[in-house]
Amino acid sequence: MPIRLKVWDPSREKPCSKCHEVRPLEEFSKHPGHRDGRQSYCKACGRAMVAARYQRIGSEAYRRYESSERGRLVRDEYAASDARRNSNNRYQRSEHGKLRTRKYLASLRGKLGGKIRRARRRVRLAMAEEFISEEDFQELLARYPQCAYCGAEFDPSKKEPQLDHVVPISKGGSHALSNAVLACRSCNASKGNKIPHEWF
Ligand SMILES: [Zn+2]
Ligand SMILES: [Zn+2]
Repeated sequence: MPIRLKVWDPSREKPCSKCHEVRPLEEFSKHPGHRDGRQSYCKACGRAMVAARYQRIGSEAYRRYESSERGRLVRDEYAASDARRNSNNRYQRSEHGKLRTRKYLASLRGKLGGKIRRARRRVRLAMAEEFISEEDFQELLARYPQCAYCGAEFDPSKKEPQLDHVVPISKGGSHALSNAVLACRSCNASKGNKIPHEWF
């Protein structure tokens, strides 16, 4: 049997450096730094790498969180507040509840409430950032030269990189280097207040 050599047309396709399949160039993401302007691995392999990286980062932090006393307390508290929320929701869906909500939102107190909540959140964020020293930040940057979740390059014009707590402070995560990663703005925003297992 003759040896079959794979030939391809470099102007239209190339082999992926990960899965070694020859694929059309459109299946490689754009990468201005590379000679052919494309990433060396295909988009499917890129997605698999992101998922694997995410699984590693997320599961390490989650394991620490789950086994900590603080994580257990927060979980118990959440279960209790879920039950409260459910009974609240039933009330808010009732006619009486709807009326109360409308009145509250229209009242001065209701309008102020939103502003106060947002201001408190800003203060919490500012305090959290002050705890990370310049040295810590450099260490993080060395560990995560790109977004820890999607691998995107940081864009300083979008105020990147952004500090992300893998397990949010509000869910019992600690403000420690072991719970911090650097992320792009869009991953940070989309992850929000979720623990990784709820987000991905
Ligand atoms: Zn591939
Ligand atoms: Zn990202």
